[in-house]
Amino acid sequence: MRATQYYAPTLRQAPAEAEIPSHKLLVRGGFIRPLTSGVFTYLPLGLRVLRRVEQVVREEMNRAGALEVFMAVLEPKELWERTGRWDSFQPQPLRTEDRTGRWFCLGPTHEEVITDLVARDVSSYKQLPLTLYQIQTKFRDEIRPRGGLIRVKEFTMKDAYSFDIDEAGLARSYQAMYEAYVRIFARLGLATLVVQAEAGSMGGSDTREFMVLSDSGEDTVFVCDKCDYAANAECATSRLPEADSETEPADDYQRVDTPGATTIQAISEMLGTPPTKLLKTLLYRADERFVAALVRGDRELNEIKLQRATGADELRMATAEEILALTGAPVGFSGPVGLPDEVEIIADREIEFLGNAVVGANEADAHLVGVNVSRDFAVSRYADLRQAAAGDPCPQCETGRLATRRAIEMGHIFKLDTKYSEDLGALYTSEDGEQRPMVMGCYGIGVSRALAAIVEEHHDDAGIIWPLEVAPFGVVILLLDPENAKLAAVAEDLLTQLEAAGYEVMLDDRDERPGVKFKDAELIGYPLIVVVGRKTAESGEVEVRRRQDSAEEVVPIAGAVATLQELAEEA
Ligand SMILES: [Zn+2]
Repeated sequence: MRATQYYAPTLRQAPAEAEIPSHKLLVRGGFIRPLTSGVFTYLPLGLRVLRRVEQVVREEMNRAGALEVFMAVLEPKELWERTGRWDSFQPQPLRTEDRTGRWFCLGPTHEEVITDLVARDVSSYKQLPLTLYQIQTKFRDEIRPRGGLIRVKEFTMKDAYSFDIDEAGLARSYQAMYEAYVRIFARLGLATLVVQAEAGSMGGSDTREFMVLSDSGEDTVFVCDKCDYAANAECATSRLPEADSETEPADDYQRVDTPGATTIQAISEMLGTPPTKLLKTLLYRADERFVAALVRGDRELNEIKLQRATGADELRMATAEEILALTGAPVGFSGPVGLPDEVEIIADREIEFLGNAVVGANEADAHLVGVNVSRDFAVSRYADLRQAAAGDPCPQCETGRLATRRAIEMGHIFKLDTKYSEDLGALYTSEDGEQRPMVMGCYGIGVSRALAAIVEEHHDDAGIIWPLEVAPFGVVILLLDPENAKLAAVAEDLLTQLEAAGYEVMLDDRDERPGVKFKDAELIGYPLIVVVGRKTAESGEVEVRRRQDSAEEVVPIAGAVATLQELAEEA
């Protein structure tokens, strides 16, 4: 390819709205252009990288035995109503109505479509297992798009779905995808951390995320400084404290006046009690009932964990009016002692270890001190409800402490079990003639997001440093003086030789100053650079340079291809 015939408009300045390196560099390097907020056009260079990432994903999915399909973007409402997700899926999908009044969503995911497809065509255990995947445009009604290709309204995803006869089969399919993901991210040059995650709108049991640690990431992960424990913020937890054997339980609790003390800090200061000895009582509406969630005073409640513990489809904080009606007290004075029976008390596991606690008295301007669990109130259920915090003791090892890191979520694998196959009638006849629901898994990779993650991991002040596997062109030849016919002939000859050796090559034959060509080559991030310039004219030598570490050799023209191959292999 010749730069004079190409469309790669580079910019010296990053757009004002670009905050993170990948957004700045992908726009400046002429890979993408914003169409509107969270929607991008891919220019030729960007599309080449996208296609290369897709190819890596496709090769590894095929190698793992998955079969490629291509499903529609328009998904009919009726199908989503059968799984109950038309109203409940979060974030709500983009929706559209045709002129006859039929509703569709622009698919954010395809469990309904693929399960319905397989339900119609697969009926016997002999046709299973089956894993199908697609690489396709997905939509998300993102309110605040940001981070360039990281959080967008329209993006390319690989989504795969496995169908098995039983849990053991699902475990094998899941493992095959896990291993394929490890190979994919290694080939893309992405160091990933596999973390425990929550299934959220997908439902199902076991779920893992493949995270790329990056300060530009939107997710927070908790990692142990001593062992391999890693979990996202939605499900991270901490080691439980030792039982407090020193504190003698008070004979009984006592009511104390706490005028105006509606926050943990205010009560703590007023009573001289550390927040770890206080107990937070948070009232929630879970579908049609009320629950009181208890966490230690120094903790934040994790609403996702509470929703999971309650099994509710909808969970929201109780209003001030509801709290007053239930407890007889304004917000800030709720406590577990003497709550009406209709309120279920779900306590974080740490509460079990709390002796002589301070709780709200369910009365304005009053608290109870010396409260003890089980003697003074009944917990209907203990669950992990607390939000993990940096510095917490690791739940998996004896001595580690948790730290938080920013990360980009690149992949997600779920065990869905039989939710979708039951809702959509994906049944098979077993060997003994029984009808059973297929056991499913689903597996996603953010393909366009990978461009951003790769750039976040592979760039310097001058620009992008693409790994060879995904580079738009592996080599650029900088022809510094295109007017010089002799040099132009050398460059043309190298172009032919390198293409014959299997490289994708860009020949920068533009009528630009050498400085512009070097700057653009570094900004665009070609992994290998061949300079045909002054040295070539003087001594018949070319410079061969590797972008990632600036390793450089000056060699006779005849040795250029071999040297370049050596540099590529060492990379
Ligand atoms: Zn640990």
